[in-house]
Amino acid sequence: MRLDDYDPNINVEDQRGSGGGGGGFGGGGGGLLMGLLPMIGSRFGCGGIVVVLILMAVFGGMGGLGGLLGGGQTSAPTTQSEPRSGSDTKSSCSLNAESKAACNAFSSADNTWEAIFQKNGQRFEAPKLVFFDGNGRSGCGAAQSAMGPFYCPTDQGIYLDTSFFNELSTRFKANGDFAQDYVIAHEFGHHIQKLLGTNAQVQQAQRQASETEGNALSVRLELQADCYAGVWAAANKTRLEAGDIQEGMTAAQAIGDDTLQKQSQGRVVPDSFTHGTSAQRQSWLKRGLESGDPQQCDTFSGEI
Ligand SMILES: [Zn+2]
Repeated sequence: MRLDDYDPNINVEDQRGSGGGGGGFGGGGGGLLMGLLPMIGSRFGCGGIVVVLILMAVFGGMGGLGGLLGGGQTSAPTTQSEPRSGSDTKSSCSLNAESKAACNAFSSADNTWEAIFQKNGQRFEAPKLVFFDGNGRSGCGAAQSAMGPFYCPTDQGIYLDTSFFNELSTRFKANGDFAQDYVIAHEFGHHIQKLLGTNAQVQQAQRQASETEGNALSVRLELQADCYAGVWAAANKTRLEAGDIQEGMTAAQAIGDDTLQKQSQGRVVPDSFTHGTSAQRQSWLKRGLESGDPQQCDTFSGEI
């Protein structure tokens, strides 16, 4: 996809090179609990992870997470971890090719969705793109590379360790720039769900749902984010290059739950559990691509 012109006014936060693990955890328990999160994620979805992270913060399981409940970061052990928030978008975006690609895709999605919201008379709020490596922080708790890219509704941040892009091609065999763009566009789709209230509705429903029902709702939420990614691509058709759609389809296939669960070792990606099968992910990405209409992304009524 020809995306080479990010808007310098996008919201970018950069936590890279901030001392890594120095700031994120209160003790050895953090690692153990973080290790459990993928399991919780697979059972209860991203909402479950958020709930657990909040409980962990409340009961002091993880130090240094002061930001989670809006109380500042008083317990942070180092001052190195101060994010270079928004101060220098250009240097963050040009740190390496992957950062540039992420900024370009993020910026494009930002513009596209702002226009769609405006057209529908809805108020748009821009999210932020947060780069981290090793251990970062988010409004939803620690950001760890092993979690893969994720969206945090609390601070409206799309969190990315760009090493995931390398992994997309090496581990998931999803090559090409569009595979990376799709990842950003999918996370942006979660931001759209936050703005539209879908996210909150699903979390509310999940509180009363059984585990199975909760997972089914997660799948619908994730497939809708895939569809929204397609809507974004459709709005930028003139920039698509030969092979892009196939790259997106390959990525959607590679990170489907059924495909992932066949892989036993390596990186765990909570945001890829309870996301639907490869076929479902491809189908909803395609639905967004072909219709270009967010109204066609209603994954909550009927068959998926
Ligand atoms: Zn997702």
